[in-house]
Amino acid sequence: MRLSQYFLPTLRDNPSEAQIVSHRLMLRAGMIRQSSAGIYSWLPLGFRVLQKVEQIVREEQDRAGAQELLMPTIQPAELWKESGRYDDYGKEMLRITDRHEREMLFGPTNEELITEIFRASVKTYRDLPKNLYHIQWKFRDEVRPRFGVMRGREFLMKDNYSFDVDAAGARHSYNKMFLAYLRTFARMGLKAIPMRADTGPIGGDLSHEFQILADTGESAVYVDKNFLDVDLLNINVDYDDREAVQKAVDGFTSFYAATDEKHDTAQGEKLGDRLVSARGIEVGHIFYFGTKYSAPLKANVAGPNGETITVEMGSYGIGVSRLVGAIIEASHDASGIIWPDSVAPFDIGLVNLRSGDAKCDAAANDLYAKLQKAGKAVLYDDRGDSAGAKFATMDLIGLPWQAVIGPRGVAAGKVEIKRRATGEKLELATDDAVAKLIG
Ligand code: ATP
Ligand code: MG
Repeated sequence: MRLSQYFLPTLRDNPSEAQIVSHRLMLRAGMIRQSSAGIYSWLPLGFRVLQKVEQIVREEQDRAGAQELLMPTIQPAELWKESGRYDDYGKEMLRITDRHEREMLFGPTNEELITEIFRASVKTYRDLPKNLYHIQWKFRDEVRPRFGVMRGREFLMKDNYSFDVDAAGARHSYNKMFLAYLRTFARMGLKAIPMRADTGPIGGDLSHEFQILADTGESAVYVDKNFLDVDLLNINVDYDDREAVQKAVDGFTSFYAATDEKHDTAQGEKLGDRLVSARGIEVGHIFYFGTKYSAPLKANVAGPNGETITVEMGSYGIGVSRLVGAIIEASHDASGIIWPDSVAPFDIGLVNLRSGDAKCDAAANDLYAKLQKAGKAVLYDDRGDSAGAKFATMDLIGLPWQAVIGPRGVAAGKVEIKRRATGEKLELATDDAVAKLIG
């Protein structure tokens, strides 16, 4: 993509409405634009990151055996009356009346709707287990939308729902999601800590929140320092092996980690100076809640002896749009964003220091073509701006690699490449630079 043609409305100055660094940087890098409080448009650069994050989430869900579908944003109120949550949910729910005076709502979550889909089609224990997910916009009329996409009113969530015949099966479904979540966040360069959590309005018995440590986090959290050294990148358990999966989960939950609501002061004190008290950003939340929805909504199947079994359910959420902000909170410096390779909007930023100069243009065009041919996503700054402005833009938008073409390098047949995360610079012959950037 040539920057001269790209829609990238960057801002030079810090927008005054943004209180935290990720919000500031997303606005400055031209990733999002607010349309009303807590509701955003995703501009091309931001949308590319959102899609990358979404794709990692999707791949790990699929790998764990969940199946993707797509439910609507607008739901009928009746279902929520059946479950008893229509009144409980309160003002956070955006209620809508259609032209026929039917009560509708913009879904804040989907337990009721998925249970309705399930009960209409699944009648026997033989069809279980099932785990269904979607990645869809949610609306919650938050009292205080703030921090950009971190606490929006409209936000993108991956939510899935598991259905099992018994508690042991449901536990296995829960455990698989637990591991899938750790893999998901690790692939985005994040250290997400699973913490025992309150079940809140979703209800249920067993629940973990996945928290990223960051000073700007909204939750107070407590964690055993030793967890911070645990390797989360190489979780490779056979998801069909119930015991192995349980053992892996037991390993991760053996470390003390709790949110404020669940914090046990006595247990914390036992850890002594191993107890880290910090702030966390909740990026995911998983629940096992048994028959809380399947009972009132009558999601029953016939068992092996013709008996009626009310299915055991769990639900699992990931804040896909919140993650984009959380990644920036975890990875930035004074000059801008530092994207982990896996979610970067482009792999390489190509800077032509003297656009319009025949030799520089030829060298830059050549490099641009070679990198693209190798399958790399390249953002090519071919504009007539000053070198300083071009470097500042590249550092701000945080692409993992920068490749710089200038008159001096061109004369010597060299390209300068820079790793955004470390600032390390290398001057290489064009072909070597290509080899290095292709990796
Ligand atoms: P929070 O405690 O942050 O309000 P929650 O516990 O109400 O979140 P869940 O119902 O667990 O949220 O939703 C699943 C995930 O969706 C959360 O872990 C979070 O990452 C994301 N999420 C929830 N509310 C918002 C929001 N207002 N803006 C962006 N993401 C959100
Ligand atoms: Mg939650």
